[in-house]
Amino acid sequence: MNHALTVRKYQVYTTKDIPDIFRRYHRDPEDGVAMAAVSSVLPFRVNEYVLEELIDWHRLPDDPIYQLTFPQKGMLAAGDLERMEDLIRRRAPDEEVQQAANEIRYRLNPHPAGQRELNVPRLDGRPLPGLQHKYRETVLFFPSQGQTCHAYCTYCFRWAQFVGIREMKFAAGEAESFHEYLRRHTEVTDVLFTGGDPMVMKAHHLRAHIEPLLSPELDHIQDIRIGTKSVAYWPYRFVSDADADEVLRLFEDVVGSGRHLAVMAHYSHPRELSTPAARECIRRIRGTGAEIRCQAPLVRHVNDDPGVWSELWMQEVRQGCIPYYMFVERDTGPKNYFEVPLAEAYHIFAEAYRRVSGLARTVRGPSMSATPGKVRILGIAECRGQSVFVLTFLQARDPAWVQRPFFARFDPKATWLTDLKPAFGQKRFFFEEPLEAMRRSRAAASLTLEVMPQPAESCVLEDLLGAS
Ligand SMILES: *Cc1c(COP(=O)(O)O)cnc(C)c1O
Repeated sequence: MNHALTVRKYQVYTTKDIPDIFRRYHRDPEDGVAMAAVSSVLPFRVNEYVLEELIDWHRLPDDPIYQLTFPQKGMLAAGDLERMEDLIRRRAPDEEVQQAANEIRYRLNPHPAGQRELNVPRLDGRPLPGLQHKYRETVLFFPSQGQTCHAYCTYCFRWAQFVGIREMKFAAGEAESFHEYLRRHTEVTDVLFTGGDPMVMKAHHLRAHIEPLLSPELDHIQDIRIGTKSVAYWPYRFVSDADADEVLRLFEDVVGSGRHLAVMAHYSHPRELSTPAARECIRRIRGTGAEIRCQAPLVRHVNDDPGVWSELWMQEVRQGCIPYYMFVERDTGPKNYFEVPLAEAYHIFAEAYRRVSGLARTVRGPSMSATPGKVRILGIAECRGQSVFVLTFLQARDPAWVQRPFFARFDPKATWLTDLKPAFGQKRFFFEEPLEAMRRSRAAASLTLEVMPQPAESCVLEDLLGAS
């Protein structure tokens, strides 16, 4: 893995290429029909770099990067898997496959954590799709050209938008409303570009979005953040892509304007930081004066091991990056396959945290991004003869909730905030009532979900049937 930097051209592979990929690496998919069944429901996309430099093809199926990118049969419930396999075996028409797939998708909680009803901000009463303003200081922006990624993570909580279930539509020409919204909201200090992955955008698009934020009338915007997986999946974005240097110049301009530029890097496994391209990418980004802050969810089969996390954080610090968040996998998509109970997540976090120096202890977690806010599991304690989870908000819809410890009954099986019950005989958590009041007071103009047809994939299915 320690070869010299190989320059690559971006080449993407989707579901129809799976059989060829397996032939190329002289591997058999364990179960071709199952893989076809899962990838007809959940999105799949990899690229040459992920295949060649990140996946260890001798370690299938356990290899963490393979698990991170390729469909696995455990990702669908047994009944759903059987149903899709049956359709594929009898070569059902595409429409029938799509209809079954969509039914399953809607049962996989495609829009977790009350995203739509509470977070879409308004300008003069008009909703601004493509924006989210959940926490006072920070506005999320979803550029329309950034709604895909250089490769997909199997556990992605935004998976639904990649199969055509849209929640965020950002109409062209809306940039002005966005800037007007920011001019009126001087409490906002941070703008976070997210997606998909904003780094799939060409440099000139990225500049068109970011440069207006540097104007003196938006002086309250002090931090610009870009959420991205590109540093892990396509580091060439900053190294050798045709407009890589242009991206770096834009970063320098942001820093030169006196703002802080934070690349919010999604690194799930230390291997993603280990290649020559990944190192060069980090070196070049940091050379612009931007900082790289690192975050990822804890997921079964990929990084459910304290040794992996301590190694990840140490690698980050060694290369000058800042460990930021460890997330709990969200309650959506193939959650059952990836979930780690909160108690175990806490033990993995604590054990990893104990192994690293203070410089890596900038990381906070395990944290659940739930409807009321980001809830951190601080510990498990014995109190008045009861085992309890000690919890706190890292971020909350009401800033007054932040950093106030609260308690839930210990439950070794709980995997999400909604599984937890208040400790000490209390009926509700302190934030539940105010949260409901917030819900009631927002007359939510809920955006309609749209299901867009997927491209036909029948050739794939044929190939996979042949391969198994
Ligand atoms: C995490 C998050 C933010 C940023 O929170 P920080 O704690 O400042 O990193 C903003 N908006 C949403 C919706 C988030 O989930």
